[in-house]
Amino acid sequence: MTSLPASAGGTPVRKQFLPYALPLVGDEEKREVLKVLDSGWITTGPRAFEFEKRLASYTGAAHAVVLSSCTAALHVSLAALGVGEGDEVVTSTMTFCSTANVILHLKARPVLADVEPGAMTISPEEIRRRMTPRTKAIIPVHYGGHPCRMDEIAEIARKAGVPVVEDAAHALGAVYKGRNVGTLSAATCFSFYAIKNLTTAEGGAVVTDDPELAARIRLYAFHGMSKDAWKRYTSAGSWYYEVMYPGFKYNMTDIQAALGLCQLEKLGQFLERRESIAALYDREFAGMDEITTLSVDSGVRHARHLYPIMLNLERLTIDRARFIEELKAENIGTTVNFVPVHMHPYYRDTFGLKREDFPVAAAAYDRLISLPLYPKMTDEDAADVVEAVRKIAAHFRR
Ligand SMILES: *Cc1c(COP(=O)(O)O)cnc(C)c1O
Repeated sequence: MTSLPASAGGTPVRKQFLPYALPLVGDEEKREVLKVLDSGWITTGPRAFEFEKRLASYTGAAHAVVLSSCTAALHVSLAALGVGEGDEVVTSTMTFCSTANVILHLKARPVLADVEPGAMTISPEEIRRRMTPRTKAIIPVHYGGHPCRMDEIAEIARKAGVPVVEDAAHALGAVYKGRNVGTLSAATCFSFYAIKNLTTAEGGAVVTDDPELAARIRLYAFHGMSKDAWKRYTSAGSWYYEVMYPGFKYNMTDIQAALGLCQLEKLGQFLERRESIAALYDREFAGMDEITTLSVDSGVRHARHLYPIMLNLERLTIDRARFIEELKAENIGTTVNFVPVHMHPYYRDTFGLKREDFPVAAAAYDRLISLPLYPKMTDEDAADVVEAVRKIAAHFRR
């Protein structure tokens, strides 16, 4: 016998609401942030440069530039690679809106591509189909932390002579065929937003092996001001600078970097914890007819940022929105990653896009729910999520 859903007067699986996501910040972070506040240097300085060194060393890339967000990282990476008016940039429709927004900020055209049905990562065949002579860059999105099919994407990019800029907002710590995400392309952008795998509250970074690109990214991210100008003209003194480009203000503060340095120390444990909760979900959901879990390619280390499930709607009497409401009544927070870019009014109307132009993403969108997955969760929390999903699925089984 199945118990009654909380929405119908049953007892909720949990007494206390389990948020969809929470950051995990400890005493070390608090101590280090206070040290920065007391130091007299609170904006970009020694902590930020240290964080850059550690990120480069963690990913294995030669250079890291820390910034105010992943959105900023994507924006300046494209700008520094020369993307501008009249250019096209191919990216996934299954992403957060900022991946596409930044392309428009540069007056270029976002060309969306559909995703793989199993992992929701951008489909290489779709990229190939959407490339034109105006294509100036490709932005694969490592959906949920699952690396895209990078060998094929790199080959397409190489043949077309265009750079790849990875949206690795979910994928710090991911590995593709033995190579770290961060070492596979011209530039790789990470997010340190509050609920990403590593947080600085708000923040991001670009890593690259190309010293000139790193220097240009640095320049564009700070007003286009050349800090080296005064070094070359020593007689002018240290107050002198030259503006080489009308740049942006995207630098990361030392307060954020202090947080990031502590979080990077813990990232290994965070990823293990994410793995273990994901494994618990995988085990528990394996035999269920009402839901499907996403697949993981062989040869990748998934960074397990998200744990999306797909409802098998033909087996249920309720839709996705109602399933989310039912879980909320059981005190389980969830979200949807993502509303596909092509379904947002601006993109739909500006580019005349139809839902079915990207059939895999459109069909997935109707069925996707991201479950809570974060290191602060206990095994009991995860077991509650499983119980609530089972309870709702059983009650509304067709
Ligand atoms: C979070 C996210 C971003 C933006 O990151 P911010 O640091 O918040 O700017 C970009 N792309 C994807 C896929 C994301 O999930």
